[in-house]
Amino acid sequence: MKDIKLLSRQEYERWLKTLPRESCTLCEWGKYQIVLKEMHFWVWIACLAPYRKFHTMFIPKRHIESIGELIIWEWLELVRLYQYALWRFRELDITDRYLIFWRKRDSYIDSKTGTRKLTHLHIHFIPDREHCFDPILDSNAIRIDNIEKLIQKISSHDQEEKEGSWHYYLRFFGRVKI
Ligand SMILES: [Zn+2]
Repeated sequence: MKDIKLLSRQEYERWLKTLPRESCTLCEWGKYQIVLKEMHFWVWIACLAPYRKFHTMFIPKRHIESIGELIIWEWLELVRLYQYALWRFRELDITDRYLIFWRKRDSYIDSKTGTRKLTHLHIHFIPDREHCFDPILDSNAIRIDNIEKLIQKISSHDQEEKEGSWHYYLRFFGRVKI
């Protein structure tokens, strides 16, 4: 086993800045990452700069940037890997609640630190903690006009789709970045 060294978030940010611009530490998982389990399409790794203890990630071996780019075989194996990880956490009695998420970014530059974030898709798999979202709760979230705006948008979009033809779909896929 290679030397395991986890980094604080600050150390991690500094380290990212030292890497060549074209390098992807997730494509080069064998060189840079702590591998927990390798499957055919996916690798389960420990997060090098963990948010919490036992912060891990599922990464596809292919360099893709969005979950929308996954092919069916990758989806199927992701379910297997998720089950596998869940059982390993349970066996070790690490937690009885979990956070599973990925971040979709339209810009990969961290607006606070200027660091270029990883573009390679990574799905976080972390022990959850009750009320961990409390610090980011938005008291305006209950404003109903926000959700009304969304409902109106969906309804006008559906109307457009109903009227649609191949032109609509071509336009749709032309403008949408998945
Ligand atoms: Zn990559």
